[in-house]
Amino acid sequence: AQPLLIVKDLQKHFPVRGGLFGRTQAKVQAVDGVSFEVKKGETLGIVGESGCGKSTTAKLLIGLTEKDRGEIIFDGLSLGQRLPLKDLRKGVQMVFQDSYATLNPRLTILDSVAFGTKVQGLKDPNGLARKMMDRVGLNPNRFAHRYPHELSGGQRQRVNIARALAMSPRLVVLDEAVSALDKSVEAQVLNLLNDLRAEFGLTYIFISHDLNVVRYISDRILVMYLGEVVEVAPVDSIWKSQAHPYTRSLFSAMPSMDPDNRTQEPPLAGDPPNPINPPSGCRFHTRCRFASDVCKSDAPRLDGLAQNAAHMVVCHLYDAASGHPRAGQGIPA
Ligand code: SF4
Ligand code: MG
Repeated sequence: AQPLLIVKDLQKHFPVRGGLFGRTQAKVQAVDGVSFEVKKGETLGIVGESGCGKSTTAKLLIGLTEKDRGEIIFDGLSLGQRLPLKDLRKGVQMVFQDSYATLNPRLTILDSVAFGTKVQGLKDPNGLARKMMDRVGLNPNRFAHRYPHELSGGQRQRVNIARALAMSPRLVVLDEAVSALDKSVEAQVLNLLNDLRAEFGLTYIFISHDLNVVRYISDRILVMYLGEVVEVAPVDSIWKSQAHPYTRSLFSAMPSMDPDNRTQEPPLAGDPPNPINPPSGCRFHTRCRFASDVCKSDAPRLDGLAQNAAHMVVCHLYDAASGHPRAGQGIPA
């Protein structure tokens, strides 16, 4: 079957306010040549340190930020060609981390949930809103006429989920959607999201810095570093063995990681390089203990591993033709 979403070579560089590099305006290379696919009904988790381009990718997908380059194909239609932005925004909804900032403080919960469908001219927006509130665990008789400040963070996030669902989306992009919640509330909301996905046949892109949360909810995981994809793999495969040196460090830093699965990688040294002037070749080469000359000059390409073609990595340590690690690199086969 055709993927629900295909992203090809997406790029977004933000001009730096007031900053000039020589004669040209300096730009932050927030997203630089990102490509991936999301199948119908799956959850793709996106992980990486803050500033790696996860959130910018999300905003590009719903047209909150305009891309410089690349293609977004949703349900077979290319954005800006056969797919107008307003249709993309109907099909793709987003839930953000800050449950409070995204709700209008002067609107009741019912009005917030019904707002989008009213704009679209739906017949019974209030009826639908009440149904959605009920479905996310907010009794409409108790909550309909309350205001956002009267709710807990978990309840507000349920409002945001109800509001997104009321629009009948195909794809929901969740950017750190449970990150601000207590662990127990986080678990409840994750379970709710899993139930809703099955019930409504939804597809998710789930962005988080928390690997355990991403593991729990995702079918596949995509790892970003400095605006680029470095690894993408089924969750079981990447959990067993991380192929990219950056992913290995990221996973090693997790205290709760099962030692059998942890690649004993030393923690990352130093801060990520400046995204205004990222390193040449492989952007990770300034922090990678496996880096060789070719890493400094040539950008590696995305390729499937020999043992599992669905497990893809962007690294010169792996032979592009065979998918096997190159000899003598200390990377397990
Ligand atoms: Fe390290 Fe080279 Fe692989 Fe980049 S391409 S992660 S520098 S080994
Ligand atoms: Mg972010």
